Amino acid sequence: MSLSQSALRPFRVVSTAVVQWFDADYAPQGPEKMRQEPDRVDWVRCIPFIILHLGCLGVIWTGASPFAVWMAVGLYFVRMFAVTGIYHRYFSHKTYSTSRLGQFLLALWGGTTVQRGPLWWAYHHRHHHQHSDEAEDAHSPHVHGFWWSHIGWITSRRNFPTDYSTVRDLTKFPELVFLNRFDAIVPLAFAFGMFGLGHLLGAHAPGLHTNGWQMLVWGFFISTTFLFHGTSCINSMAHLMGKRRFKTEDDSRNSLILAFITLGEGWHNNHHRYMSATRNGFYWWEIDPTYYALKGLSWTGLIWGLKAVPKTVLAEGEIADHHASVAAAHRATQVHPEYATLRRVVPAAAAIAVATVNAAHGVKPLPPIGVHAQVTETQKPAGASPES
Ligand SMILES: [Zn+2]
Ligand SMILES: [Zn+2]
Repeated sequence: MSLSQSALRPFRVVSTAVVQWFDADYAPQGPEKMRQEPDRVDWVRCIPFIILHLGCLGVIWTGASPFAVWMAVGLYFVRMFAVTGIYHRYFSHKTYSTSRLGQFLLALWGGTTVQRGPLWWAYHHRHHHQHSDEAEDAHSPHVHGFWWSHIGWITSRRNFPTDYSTVRDLTKFPELVFLNRFDAIVPLAFAFGMFGLGHLLGAHAPGLHTNGWQMLVWGFFISTTFLFHGTSCINSMAHLMGKRRFKTEDDSRNSLILAFITLGEGWHNNHHRYMSATRNGFYWWEIDPTYYALKGLSWTGLIWGLKAVPKTVLAEGEIADHHASVAAAHRATQVHPEYATLRRVVPAAAAIAVATVNAAHGVKPLPPIGVHAQVTETQKPAGASPES
């Protein structure tokens, strides 16, 4: 590299990052080369992301109104559904079907989440499933630490380009590639829409005590920042916090708290066991609002072909739960010997419960299990789907 070239390098790095704010596919050295770089925060590229967080401080000047606050809460959940029900369960895993127009409308809805384009999101997520908690996993808390898995990875230059070769089923649609390439269009339109709505309400509904700037701060900046961190909890916390029903090769976990925050994505261990199902809460007691909403959407005809959890996987989970209850009873008798009767009663009760549920699901009876000898073993029924 000549002297003049090296002197121009900082300028080139900055100008490239600025162009990438608007054209996510702009990569003078080629996206492949960018992806091979070591992890390094691209501060200029991240300026819009930093502005998103700093914009929350605008509340100091705009104040709050009940209407603006409830809009922020409502938009958090409406757009969390877009992350989970659209970017995740449709674009990443194709767990249901829709028309081409329906797909485009879903992509627009997904764009309001300000989490880049649908193809970029699906590419990274599919990569996560292929390499969960391995060195290649871009956001494993076990490999890179909590903060990198939560927020750092998204700032790294190597993670900005989309690897279109991994989402060929989606690159067939030029309208999706367009939204993915110019991924700032929908977020900017959404932000302007919030400002415009607030401005109109300020003029025509003064009783709501809101205005354009206040709606921009609450409806866009605050709601979107919370949405980002709520979503990121799955990358960071869902591989650290909760219980492991299935012995997947990663460290994914099931958590009711995360299920509330993310409308059902907290059943992450279930999902890593079988990623092709529309529901992440495999059983009726595992709350999964995204699934309920998708079920509701299927009644309108906008989407169809929701995919069920195979009975073999459900049976595998029931056996694992049975083993966990036996192990818990066994531990209780060791801590409290006076409860030794539990040791005999609880496994029997759990076995009866599992047999009843299996019968209700029409599952073939499973071979008897040595309840004390194999308390930590999970049996994998023949024909079970491959690990996700
Ligand atoms: Zn995961
Ligand atoms: Zn997934």
